[in-house]
Amino acid sequence: MLDTLDRLTPGSFPPIRRQSLQAPQVNLGYLCNQQCQHCHVDAGPRRTENMDATTIDLVIAKLEELRIEVLALQGGLKLCEVRSAFLRRNH
Ligand code: SF4
Repeated sequence: MLDTLDRLTPGSFPPIRRQSLQAPQVNLGYLCNQQCQHCHVDAGPRRTENMDATTIDLVIAKLEELRIEVLALQGGLKLCEVRSAFLRRNH
């Protein structure tokens, strides 16, 4: 195993500071008509996990609470359907 302890000690690299949340990303589900080897969520046609309406409402409420104007949506086949739900609730 590579020893990385020396990379954690203070050095000349400037400190990284977290700023306010500006553009969160929401993954809508794992159902997809593709089954790409590079998929980072292991989506596919046999996956059934998708965001439900209650969770969509929670996400929208949090966006409003935090006054976030940009939301990145990602997901498989469910994307169009859930994206429509987001748009319907936001207008
Ligand atoms: S979500 Fe994207 S990367 Fe994953 S299987 Fe579907 S098309 Fe491929």
